[in-house]
Amino acid sequence: MLRYQAPVKDIHFLLNEVLPVKNYANLPGFEEATLDTLLAVVEEASKLASEVILPTNAVGDQEGCQYDPASHGVTTPTGFRAAYRAYVEGGWPGMSAPVEYGGQGLPHLLKFIVDEMVCSTNLSFGMYPGLSHGAVAALYHHADEALKARFLPKLVSGEWTGTMCLTEPQCGTDLRLIRTRAEPQADGTYAITGTKIWITGGEHDLTENIVHLVLAKLPGAPESTKGISMFIVPKFVPETGERNPAFCGGLEHKMGIKGSATCVMNFEGAKGWLVGEANEGMRYMFTMMNGARLMVGMQGLGLAETAYQISLAFAQERLQSRSLRGPQSPDKPADPILVHPDVRRMLLRQKVFNEGNRALAYWVAFHLDNAHANPDPAEREASDDLVQLMTPVVKAFLTDEGYANANWAQQVLGGSGFTVDWGIEQLVRDGRIARIYEGTNGIQAMDLVGRKLSLHGGRLIRRYMGLLRDTLTRHPEQTYAASLKGVLDNLQTATGWLASHGMKDSENAGAAASPYLRLVALSALAYLWAEMDRIAAERIAAGEATPFYTSKRKSAAYFFERGLQEASMLLADIESGKGTLMAHEEAELA
Ligand SMILES: Cc1cc2nc3c(=O)[nH]c(=O)nc-3n(C[C@H](O)[C@H](O)[C@H](O)COP(=O)(O)OP(=O)(O)OC[C@H]3O[C@@H](n4cnc5c(N)ncnc54)[C@H](O)[C@@H]3O)c2cc1C
Repeated sequence: MLRYQAPVKDIHFLLNEVLPVKNYANLPGFEEATLDTLLAVVEEASKLASEVILPTNAVGDQEGCQYDPASHGVTTPTGFRAAYRAYVEGGWPGMSAPVEYGGQGLPHLLKFIVDEMVCSTNLSFGMYPGLSHGAVAALYHHADEALKARFLPKLVSGEWTGTMCLTEPQCGTDLRLIRTRAEPQADGTYAITGTKIWITGGEHDLTENIVHLVLAKLPGAPESTKGISMFIVPKFVPETGERNPAFCGGLEHKMGIKGSATCVMNFEGAKGWLVGEANEGMRYMFTMMNGARLMVGMQGLGLAETAYQISLAFAQERLQSRSLRGPQSPDKPADPILVHPDVRRMLLRQKVFNEGNRALAYWVAFHLDNAHANPDPAEREASDDLVQLMTPVVKAFLTDEGYANANWAQQVLGGSGFTVDWGIEQLVRDGRIARIYEGTNGIQAMDLVGRKLSLHGGRLIRRYMGLLRDTLTRHPEQTYAASLKGVLDNLQTATGWLASHGMKDSENAGAAASPYLRLVALSALAYLWAEMDRIAAERIAAGEATPFYTSKRKSAAYFFERGLQEASMLLADIESGKGTLMAHEEAELA
């Protein structure tokens, strides 16, 4: 049985003490977003997650979705419809959506927090409203006023859901190969024809309409990503109710997220409307994907948090062997496994990286809000630079670590972790996909190294390193100043190595991409753990030596002593270049 309690204390710490969230209410458009309001929403969201969404998790995995070939319909597992209704009635879909289309205009940071809780309690369920948010963002930024008026209000309210239709049988990463076609019609619409695969929420029974954002090519379009356009293709045409020939042709049978309908979608001359300009579809889709990538990062964190809670409770209850220090529970036949250093190793890895990753995600979300709302263009630009740089990092690192941590949690449970009774094996299966979709984690690393590093002549990474070095100047007395400086020096060296060796031979950049992404992530965690430690130390010095603050300091010590060790190994990996990776001839790999 899955158990979960939202990590409210940690969320309060980040909102109250670590991030400058108090300033939100001074930003235009965020006047309502006082700290009290944010904390009240966090409280309500934790109830939604534990009371409404959590009970749907195991049943969703057991039943999965059902496809009916006669109607092309999909039935979601027991309880999903009621939970979705409650989600919509609570106003959750439009929380951070634009006010002019019925949203509440609250900070994206708040949405990140709620996403984490939803993914902690049922990842499959969270995917139905999850993609609508990205669809709203893409339409809001790129569609004309008429399309916005027709589609946005019901997507924002959650009465309809959105999908993202990119993948086809012959193309996942490489979208140049898209074959779906869009034929212009006399009435100004387009007839969309083609097959998309693995479309999340392509068909379901939660809402009366589904709005597909489809990438397709116009006749004569260039054979590159510059020849792709975006179309909006509703299941039912809003004004007439006409059923559009955009049919689900079947469901995938998957390792995990069985409650999420992953659909083959056949577009058979379906009526579509062009979003924005022709051939700009990839650019528009990135508006959707960037939001979705950050959300997938929260999926990794959300699952890992639940896994940690289960493994901690297990370690407190399971009695095996005596402590190496001698009996700690002499009245019992054995001590709880929590006493064993090797079990602590598995628990601490989870706790410290989950808390660090949460701080990282919220920090990026804070800058996402600042990039939109700050009246000062220089501030907006600085925040946007950070968000662009860190989007692939949050997606890849939080899902890699989330998956690794769910595995550590499973290991803490011994054989019980392999049985279905504790729910951990489902978390491991569910979490695996987050490293793959929305662009695999390898592709996130390529995005960081191949695109983000060179943007604006290297401004993003320079600014990032400057920001982190600045904290060393402002707080030279902080406990971990030397460690933070050490990882920054490693990052500087790695960035310089990439600039010279990656330029000369782009296979060197390809070889270095994944370890470089991890190095950036560890440097951000070092910055954030140093901040959290400093704040906790100040509170303790002021007489507040609560278990929360003392634990923060001990966790920071773990991070700098053990977690950050990987940074020097990553630098060595980067500096090895493509050498041994590319040395084998193809025949030698067999
Ligand atoms: C459950 C599920 C839900 C999904 N939901 C959606 C959805 O809603 N909408 C949608 O459009 N798609 C969806 N997808 C598709 C998903 O986004 C793709 O699976 C993903 O982008 C990877 O594409 P691919 O599977 O074709 O792998 P490939 O592109 O074939 O890649 C295979 C491997 O090669 C690597 N690789 C490929 N090219 C390069 C390169 N240039 N450099 C280095 N490495 C490379 C990849 O990292 C990967 O490890 C979903 C998939 C699944 C399984």
